[in-house]
Amino acid sequence: MVKQTVLVINSGSSSIKYQLVDPQTGQAYAKGLVERIGESEGHIVHKYDSNTTEVNAPIADHEVGMREVLRLFDEVGPRLSEAHIVAVGHRVVQGGRYFDGPTLITDDVRTLIHDLCALAPLHNPAHLKGIDVARDLMPDVPHVAVFDTAFFQSLPEETATYALDRDVAEKYSIRRYGAHGTSHQYVSQSVSHLLERDDLRQIVLHLGNGASVSAIKNGHAIDTSMGLTPLEGLVMGTRTGDIDPAVVFHLQRQTGWSAEELDTLFNKKSGLKGLTGENDMRAVRAMTTSDDEQTRRRARVALDVYITRIVKYIGSYTAELGGLDVLTFTAGIGENDTNLRTEIIERLAPFGVFLDEAANNARHDTAVTISTPESSVRVMVVPTNEEYAIAQQALSLV
Ligand code: ADP
Repeated sequence: MVKQTVLVINSGSSSIKYQLVDPQTGQAYAKGLVERIGESEGHIVHKYDSNTTEVNAPIADHEVGMREVLRLFDEVGPRLSEAHIVAVGHRVVQGGRYFDGPTLITDDVRTLIHDLCALAPLHNPAHLKGIDVARDLMPDVPHVAVFDTAFFQSLPEETATYALDRDVAEKYSIRRYGAHGTSHQYVSQSVSHLLERDDLRQIVLHLGNGASVSAIKNGHAIDTSMGLTPLEGLVMGTRTGDIDPAVVFHLQRQTGWSAEELDTLFNKKSGLKGLTGENDMRAVRAMTTSDDEQTRRRARVALDVYITRIVKYIGSYTAELGGLDVLTFTAGIGENDTNLRTEIIERLAPFGVFLDEAANNARHDTAVTISTPESSVRVMVVPTNEEYAIAQQALSLV
């Protein structure tokens, strides 16, 4: 077996995603997902070597789920007692102003993560369940929290501050915290490493179910599209992204909908889903060739809204950065949707940005340049790997 591993845990409200990772190479020895915790029928998938083991049974709570995961490691492998686990790395969405890097979880740190629940009501309480159970079941290993917001604690005041009444903002901790920071940091550092340059002006487009874009100068984030919460910015699978906040007041006055109902509308029923009925980009792409004209039109409008929002951000971030050296695509859509990359880069042709069609269309599992040598900006596709990044950060503390 290997010298060192990190068990990476991403605990959601009804799920636990986990991966046993070599923090030196990123190799995943085993991974799995516990789903539908608290529902009548739960489900676990555990993958090790070429074997996939599935369990269908009720999973009452996170503790039952975590115990099942440890049992699967024991029975199916790899045995954790022989895996040389040096740390458990926990993904945490909101670190507020407290955390600008990976942090060893003590009781005090746990209290701070708990205090931040108001800022991330969907995420932090779920992370805490995973943290508490894992600390109970694996008390002899250090547990490390890696925050999605940490990379964006470097945002200058001018991009972190909303033009809101200063006292209200201060009292309620309202500012731009960003999210997806682990991915933006990992991808931008990979680019710097590959090009052997620290002095880069970079834009990273993380386009998955959630989507965000960041501007990075000399290794530090100077702007990012997600704000107080992951709702701001790009159009996403089910989120609006940027929208006039007066839409909220208008709907409240017109409908009397509660904050919770509006939250659900904006976070779960909007974005690609709101515009087309589908939140998955592959399904939206499939709609563009439907026999039904209205279906085709809706999909095209959704894609145009999606792409235009991205182009807007590329333009404004290029101006903020004072020029652009590298534009990088990552995450499910960014890494796989060749048409989308073409459609975005075509809009940048007036600025001398040109795509190498062959490189764009070829399948790659590793980082690749997809612009021509003449292009004024290098365009890259870099696969993100948040578990590897969390494992590396956890290792750096122990
Ligand atoms: P998450 O934010 O859940 O981690 P991912 O990064 O896995 O999401 O991205 C999921 C998105 O990637 C989905 O919208 C999916 O349709 C999209 N996607 C995956 N493969 C392709 C593909 N070949 N073409 C277009 N979109 C794709």
